[in-house]
Amino acid sequence: MGVGKKTMNILAIGAHPDDIEYGVGGTIAKFIKLGYKVTFLILTNGELIEKAENRREEALKAATILGVNDIIFGDLRDSKVECNRETIDIIEEAIHKVNPNRIYTTYIEEAHQDHRNLALATIAAGRDISSIYFYETPSTFSSFIPHIFVNISDTIQDKINALKAHITQNKKSYMDVDAIESLAKFRGFQTRQKLNYAEAFHIYKHVEF
Ligand SMILES: [Zn+2]
Repeated sequence: MGVGKKTMNILAIGAHPDDIEYGVGGTIAKFIKLGYKVTFLILTNGELIEKAENRREEALKAATILGVNDIIFGDLRDSKVECNRETIDIIEEAIHKVNPNRIYTTYIEEAHQDHRNLALATIAAGRDISSIYFYETPSTFSSFIPHIFVNISDTIQDKINALKAHITQNKKSYMDVDAIESLAKFRGFQTRQKLNYAEAFHIYKHVEF
């Protein structure tokens, strides 16, 4: 068998509509432009603060802005995501369907229990996946150590537009676009590579073939 270049096939997982956009939105938009295949798995409909159908609709709109058309909804209950058989089954099913070679998910050290439990469930469900990266959200602990930086200077606007598509969330304190842009600016600055904007990831597992 030849070594051949494997096409990138990515599964991005969020507990709520808007998590993926926050953590990895700029990177996703960049990957789509590079021709990578990307699928979203959103575990809940975020129905705790707004009607499920509205948030689903916003999630679809936001994904379209990033160039993603493949979205799987897990239909778990908002704020009640656990690292149990049910959650692991949903992620395993998505993995089976997508066959990803990289997964992006929320980080373990998180104030939000849904994010924390999603991270743990991804590790269990994704045990055979060669790369699992954690992204940061506004509730990630400050202990988050970035290992990988992605230059998103060309796609920061797509990320912001995707976040703004979550209209029902726009008044929430965590949806502060200036803060999100500032974090991306800081992550870019932190690389010391003169990047205007970057997203940072903590690696759980990464295999070089
Ligand atoms: Zn969330």
